[in-house]
Amino acid sequence: MSASQPWWEKSKEIVADHWKHLLPTLVWPFMHWCQETSYGWHEGPGPVPINCECRKNSCRVEVTAVYMDHECRLENHLLSYCECHPLALTLLGIGLFPASLICPSIAFSLGHLLVVSKLFIHISPTLLPGAA
Ligand SMILES: [Zn+2]
Repeated sequence: MSASQPWWEKSKEIVADHWKHLLPTLVWPFMHWCQETSYGWHEGPGPVPINCECRKNSCRVEVTAVYMDHECRLENHLLSYCECHPLALTLLGIGLFPASLICPSIAFSLGHLLVVSKLFIHISPTLLPGAA
């Protein structure tokens, strides 16, 4: 990275680097969620309270969950996290994917994201945004 690089380029690199570190940690919890819920067809477990004593960067946040499975709805979840139990893992455990890396306030249901990903695989390329 050069000194003349604009701040937004540096910011993009930092965000990309964070996602590169976070995503591999979410693979096994995601596979576990798929197995437990048959890819979102069955109800998964609710939020598991964290009783960690580390107190390292511990916080309690309200996350709005966007569900578009059986019906479109929003639900607020009050969740705890700390350095040992990152919020992204807690969200994944209840079938949600964070909308942002740091302290997400919105999360999307994994069932919804699976449908969207299948839609984009099977949709005609001419219908994709940006297609000429
Ligand atoms: Zn902890």
